[in-house]
Amino acid sequence: MADIRLEGVSHSYDGGRTWALKPMTWTWRSDRAYALLGPSGCGKTTLLNIISGLISPTTGRIWLGDREVTAVPTAGRNIAQVFQFPVLYEQMSVYDNLAFPLRNRGYPRAEVDRRVRTVSRMLGLDGHLGHRSRRLDPGRQQIVCVGRGLVRPDVAAVLLDEPLTVIDPALKWTLRSKLKEIHRDTGHTLIYVTHDQTEALTFADEVVVLKDGEIVQAGEPTELFLTPAHEFVGHFIGSPGMNVVPAEIAGGVVRIGGTAVGRAAGENGDLPPGPVRIGVRPEFVRIADGRDAADRNTGARAAPGLRVRITGVDRMGSYHLVHARADGHALVSKTDPGSRHDPGAAVFFRFDPGRAFLFRDEVRCGTLAPLDGPAERP
Ligand code: ATP
Repeated sequence: MADIRLEGVSHSYDGGRTWALKPMTWTWRSDRAYALLGPSGCGKTTLLNIISGLISPTTGRIWLGDREVTAVPTAGRNIAQVFQFPVLYEQMSVYDNLAFPLRNRGYPRAEVDRRVRTVSRMLGLDGHLGHRSRRLDPGRQQIVCVGRGLVRPDVAAVLLDEPLTVIDPALKWTLRSKLKEIHRDTGHTLIYVTHDQTEALTFADEVVVLKDGEIVQAGEPTELFLTPAHEFVGHFIGSPGMNVVPAEIAGGVVRIGGTAVGRAAGENGDLPPGPVRIGVRPEFVRIADGRDAADRNTGARAAPGLRVRITGVDRMGSYHLVHARADGHALVSKTDPGSRHDPGAAVFFRFDPGRAFLFRDEVRCGTLAPLDGPAERP
C-alpha cells in the first residue's frame, strides 16, 4: 500500500478561465478510509479522476508512494475505480465480472475463486454468481461493480464515486458497513466520494470537505462536528447546521446589535476590532430563563449568550428544535424532547463555553468566552 500525494494539483476545463480544482497539496494516507464530501459541482469527481489518471491535472504532480505517476495512464496506476452508475461486462456472468481484475493480473485459479467467493458472500451476491450481469437490476449490478473494485488485494487505492446512488435506501446502510468491513480486511487506501454528510460521517476514518475546488477542512467526523474550522463545515455538517450571527468586536468584547454577548478569545492572540461572525451549533445552545439559579446563586460568570424571543418549536420526536429571533437574526436550539418552551417567550440562548466560535472571512479565528462580571438575566 502507498500514500497518494498531490503537490499543487489543480484543474481547469476551460483553459484557465475557471478552476474546478484550485492548487491543492494533500496526502491520502495508505490504509485509511476517506470520505470526500462536498456539494454538487465542488470538484469531487474531478479530483478522483485526476488521482486515477482519467484526466490530467492542469498543474501539479501526483505520487503513489515513491513513484511519480503524473504522466502515467490509468492502466499503469494500479488503482480501482467504481463509478456512480454500473459499468459491467453485460454478457459475462457475475462470477466472471468479479474474477476479471484478478485473472487480468494473473492470479492463480484457486486464489481467484477464493477471493470472488469471499467478496460475493460479504456483498450478498453469492446467489447470483452464475447469472449474466445484464439480467440483474441496476442496484445489484452496482453492487457487482463495488465488488469488482474491492476484489483485488494488491491495488494502491480504491476510489468510489457516489457508489450507492442507485441502491435502495434500506440496503445502503448494510452495504456501507460491509464496505467498512472489507476495507478493514484488505487495508486499501479508500476514497469514497459523497455529497451526503451521513454517508461520509458513518463511513470514514477521516472526512475531507471540499468547497469550490478547495479543501476547507479534513479530520475525524467528531472533530469536524465539534470544531469546524470554516463556516461552510458548520453549515454542511450537522442537522440543522450551525447558527451564524454577525457581530462586532470592540475593546475585546463581542456585541450583537449593541448587546455584549461574550469576550473575544483569539486563537493566535488578541483579535483586532471589527466585524466578526459567531457560529454555534444548535446542540450547544442551552435555553435559560430568569431562574438560571447556577448563575444567580454562585455569581459564576454566565456562559456567553443572547436574549431572544422564541418564534416556534418543532417537535421532532427524539429532540425539539426551538426557533428564536434576536435583533433580526434567526437562531435555533436543539433541546431535550421533555423540555417545554412556548412561542413568544423571552429567554436567554446560552452558548456552551468553548463551543461558540468566531469566524472572519469564513475561517475560524477564535472562541466566544464568558463576559466578566455578574450574569445577565432576561
Ligand atoms: P457532482 O456531485 O455534481 O458530481 P462534483 O463535486 O463531482 O459534482 P465535478 O463534477 O468535479 O464536481 O465538477 C467541478 C466543476 O467542473 C463544476 O463546475 C462542473 O460544472 C465542471 N466540470 C466538470 N466536468 C466538466 C467537463 N467535462 N467540462 C467542463 N466543465 C466540467
